[in-house]
Amino acid sequence: MGSKVESPVESPVEIRQWKLCSYSAQGLPTSDHLKIFKSYLMISDDIIPDHHVLVKVLKLSVDPYFRQTITGLQDGLYLPQVELNQVVKAFGVGRVVTSKDPGYRKGDIVVHPLLDVADYCVIPTNFLRRVDPMAGISLSDHLSALGLPGFTAWVGMEHIGNPKAGENVFISAAAGAVGMYAGQLAKLKGCRVVGSTGTDDKVKFLKEDLGFDDAFNYKKETDFDVALSKYFPNGIDIYFDNVGGRMLEAVLNHVNQHARIPLCGMISQYNQVWTDRGGVRNLLNAIGKEVRMEGFLVGSHRHRSQDFNAEMEGYIKQGKVKSKYQMYNGIESFLESLTSLFSSSNVGKVIIQVSNDEEP
Ligand code: NAP
Repeated sequence: MGSKVESPVESPVEIRQWKLCSYSAQGLPTSDHLKIFKSYLMISDDIIPDHHVLVKVLKLSVDPYFRQTITGLQDGLYLPQVELNQVVKAFGVGRVVTSKDPGYRKGDIVVHPLLDVADYCVIPTNFLRRVDPMAGISLSDHLSALGLPGFTAWVGMEHIGNPKAGENVFISAAAGAVGMYAGQLAKLKGCRVVGSTGTDDKVKFLKEDLGFDDAFNYKKETDFDVALSKYFPNGIDIYFDNVGGRMLEAVLNHVNQHARIPLCGMISQYNQVWTDRGGVRNLLNAIGKEVRMEGFLVGSHRHRSQDFNAEMEGYIKQGKVKSKYQMYNGIESFLESLTSLFSSSNVGKVIIQVSNDEEP
């Protein structure tokens, strides 16, 4: 990034950047693995190459996939590993401070899938998208309903789940970023939707704020089979899987003929090496019930992003899809916000408010 100097001269700004210092194969990552570093940056046109902009980072999206990019393992993972001592990246919103691209001007608000987890960063302008902060969509929603979680929920539910009115839909991690949109999209298609989540408050949130037909706290259920019999007396037609493991196994005992299971994520297993993960013992049920289980990567559906944006923007503006954010303050909260994804402490989309300086 830019030309950094070791000590302040002629009004440089202090920047803080998170770097990966060592890999974390299992368990929660700690400050031994991810550390924040301070340096100074001269803000001037001279430090950026052509077709790049210098951006002040405003908000960053904190996403579970990141955990899988810092294991240092090559065990069939589909995500490339972050290099050691490199600044880590996240989907984010920033304000252009200075530009070497005629398409972008100082003050533009932009979204980029790989902003540095830092106060400022220099980025190439391909993959940059300008947003109009006055267009009725909050900057947080550009990271949430219109960002990675909303797009993931839409691809998984609409293109793989293919919901039909009256079908029974189950969503795990339902009060999280992807889950809350997946459930609302299924409701809009006329389905009966039930979610699982890890606290009673989130159960209430799903039923009272998001209009789920029912929800349960999986941490209070000692037997998932019993719980699913109770919440799905007519079986499950679509299971939107965010957690994998024991819940996926239990669902396979309750699927209807031709059920669909979009395999979105398996967060219950991200902190384990694969040999420690529990197996799904009843996969055989998928044959007898002719179940379609399909893993997907949202990045492979970029060609659908215009359709998605049009549909989701409409829902947001008509109040048909609601968002909830869990805000963390300051770039220093990155590690705390990342590890929080592996507890049940968050509701909705986890976002770091890096700077409040949002006015163009
Ligand atoms: P999120 O749901 O906002 O946050 C993660 C939630 O998972 C936590 O709040 C927690 O909620 C739950 N959780 C954590 N550890 C768990 C465990 N051991 N067992 C069961 N639940 C646990 O995260 P998100 O961004 O929406 O992501 C949801 C899933 O989608 C993740 O698996 C992620 O990897 C996946 N994803 C996939 C794609 C793709 O392209 N396929 C793209 C984006 C995200 P509760 O315990 O309270 O329910």
